Amino acid sequence: MHYFDFNATAPLHPAARAAWLEASDSAWHNPSSLFAAATSARELLAESRERVAELLGCAPERLLFTSGATAANNALARHLARVAPAESVAIISAIEHPCIDVSFRTAMPGRVVEAAVDQHGVVQPEVVTACLDSLTTGAACVSVMAASNEAGTLQPWQNLASLCRSRGVPFHTDASQWLGKLPAAGLGECDWVTASAHKFGGPKGCGLLITPAGGPPFRGDRGGPQEGGRHAGTENIAAIAAMAAALEAREREIAIRHADWLALRGEAEQRLRAQLPEAHVVGAGAERLWNTLAVLLPGGDGKKIVGQLARAGVAASTGSACSGGSGSIPRIVAAIGAEALGLPGDPLRGMVRLSSGWDTTRADWAAAIDALIAATREKIALPAVDLRRATD
Ligand code: PLP
Repeated sequence: MHYFDFNATAPLHPAARAAWLEASDSAWHNPSSLFAAATSARELLAESRERVAELLGCAPERLLFTSGATAANNALARHLARVAPAESVAIISAIEHPCIDVSFRTAMPGRVVEAAVDQHGVVQPEVVTACLDSLTTGAACVSVMAASNEAGTLQPWQNLASLCRSRGVPFHTDASQWLGKLPAAGLGECDWVTASAHKFGGPKGCGLLITPAGGPPFRGDRGGPQEGGRHAGTENIAAIAAMAAALEAREREIAIRHADWLALRGEAEQRLRAQLPEAHVVGAGAERLWNTLAVLLPGGDGKKIVGQLARAGVAASTGSACSGGSGSIPRIVAAIGAEALGLPGDPLRGMVRLSSGWDTTRADWAAAIDALIAATREKIALPAVDLRRATD
């Protein structure tokens, strides 16, 4: 099986597995217990916090551990609803994952404004500035993901963080797709950051939340003294240690291999364009994650093509695991709009997302692209392209 659904989840990194087993054997006690044997659990928790905080560039006290990005994003939405001035508004981008979109709209009903994306699927800072200028009741927060899970488009979170700082507005980025694929450094400059370990080879059920250095104290889940009284629940120490190990390993790999990964995706994209000129790569005009290739197939049906790919031994998706089964239009495609995409008619349902991993090979990419081309031709009866001409 050629696995191309890394934006949905990744297998455990060997370093994470080793750290998880080690911690499960040697630091399994409850870190809140008072007897001496629990010291190693407490120490491992503190050490893991320091290591992750150092990579992200924030003080360890700002970093809390959660059970994933969904939990962290929901906790953030509930916190803002509690502490933000009444009637203040949250600005979220039009391409946020449902666990931001739905949790913000639930926690702050009628107080969410969407910042639009451009034709490449990028939230431009001017758009956020215009949103902020248009508010009459103040901003509770601006939330823009670091990289799109659907198309991989990179968002200018560094610029947005400084823009928001200059306006005194808290800035949050959901770095679930960024972390482990691009350097973590600088994320600590954002007031709030959320992410999930399993997206980069850590275990499932483990995530992180960076909180601001000042402002109203964060209160997540209640009912226990954990995380300095800010987020209750017995810490998943083995998973936290494994997440730290996975992130460190990914940072080392990124430093060495990023250019190669980018080149592999570039070659695959060229192969696709040459043989299937009808395919439209979402976000092609923007900087994207090195692993993501989201393709709109005019007249195609994304779900059916993903099914055909699976039969050909390629695991792909229609955009996001969370909407993959529903047949809905990928959020980023709807946000860009058919007109801005330059696609006539009703092309919007035919998206296929290929998201590769750190060890995906050239042969894997070639197999995936060939399967995609074959499935699309079969589906919409496109004429075969003369390969000698196409590969010139
Ligand atoms: N945010 C983004 C951008 C994601 O891609 C995902 C997962 O697809 C999540 C949040 C939710 O992550 P989890 O299901 O691990 O909580």
